[in-house]
Amino acid sequence: MNDFRYRMAKFFNGRTGVDALGRTFTWLALILMFLTMITHSNIVYLLAMGCLIYSIWRMFSKNYQKRYNENAIFLAKTAGIRSKLSVLPFKIRTFFNKTKAEYNQRKVYSIFKCPSCKQKLRAPKGRGRIQVTCSKCHSVFIKKV
Ligand SMILES: [Zn+2]
Repeated sequence: MNDFRYRMAKFFNGRTGVDALGRTFTWLALILMFLTMITHSNIVYLLAMGCLIYSIWRMFSKNYQKRYNENAIFLAKTAGIRSKLSVLPFKIRTFFNKTKAEYNQRKVYSIFKCPSCKQKLRAPKGRGRIQVTCSKCHSVFIKKV
């Protein structure tokens, strides 16, 4: 077993291994393979294989310096996209929280628009016909809540 590990370590010594660029191509290959299952497209399948072969070839490449530079260029070029993607889960969570808060509000408040300026307004539910003064344009109207 130790011999096997030693041989593996020796084999990977001086090789690129898995870096960000390689990982991206592995993910790309997986996504494309998934798309192949849906679309049954030969082109998508070939692209998936191409990505997979490229990511494996990168892993075993002995030209570490060149691979390192490629990875550095890749990281620099995708810095903007990656920072946007990293805040995406946060944005999705904020969106859901907002929707949930609005839903909870709808149980207690009646939400409607001002007839003259379309400003979103709210009033406690179950009060019957009330006189509403718009907070934006100060127009007065009757609303059943
Ligand atoms: Zn108004």
